[in-house]
Amino acid sequence: MKRRGNIYIVSAPSGAGKSTLCRELLKIYPDITYSISHTTRRPRAVEQDGVDYHFIAKEAFQERIEQGLMAEWAEVHGNYYGTSLETLEATVSKGIDVLLDIDVQGARQMCEALPSCVTIFIMPPSEEELLARLEKRGTDTPETIKKRMKNAVGEMNQRDFYRYVIINDGLEEAVAAFVAVVKGCRDGVAS
Ligand code: ADP
Ligand code: 5GP
Repeated sequence: MKRRGNIYIVSAPSGAGKSTLCRELLKIYPDITYSISHTTRRPRAVEQDGVDYHFIAKEAFQERIEQGLMAEWAEVHGNYYGTSLETLEATVSKGIDVLLDIDVQGARQMCEALPSCVTIFIMPPSEEELLARLEKRGTDTPETIKKRMKNAVGEMNQRDFYRYVIINDGLEEAVAAFVAVVKGCRDGVAS
């Protein structure tokens, strides 16, 4: 039987550096597919439809839920986000590894359905640094930043659910830790 691809689930409070770490990991492992989520959030200036997310209306998202088209979905920071079941299945069934950047609620749903998912939580070195990174990124309004900081504490409190926790202080060290997790799973050392 053909090997099914691994599913790597990465979660973090907004601004911890999850997107940055995922980008770096995919440079090292270009054979891993990044799962492009659906969302009802409005695109940021730098984001492209079909590349960063599939940006859809709330009604369209609700229809997808009702039709059973989502592997998981959640409401995060007031918007819907979810993973397409069909796309995920099509990828892992070909033996291709997939990287999912999803929130804690989504991670729990995925692990319930597929306990073999590899879960990784990215922590910022401190709450002060998290705020500094959100402000430095410059993509969110002060109101959005406030909402994301408020949610961050609750998200970080759930890190024990994850198999691996990586503190993103120095970027190089955090990338090395992320690579070590993936390498370990692929080599069958840590899975
Ligand atoms: P997330 O995807 O978790 O919301 P991002 O990857 O967008 O976070 O990172 C938030 C900001 O922090 C970005 O401006 C990014 O360049 C910066 N950043 C990421 N990792 C580090 C790090 N280790 N040290 C300093 N700044 C970082
Ligand atoms: P952002 O708006 O910053 O891109 O993402 C906000 C949050 O939504 C992040 O915690 C991110 O991991 C989460 N997220 C992105 N896509 C999905 C998804 O498909 N499902 C779930 N459950 N969460 C997602």
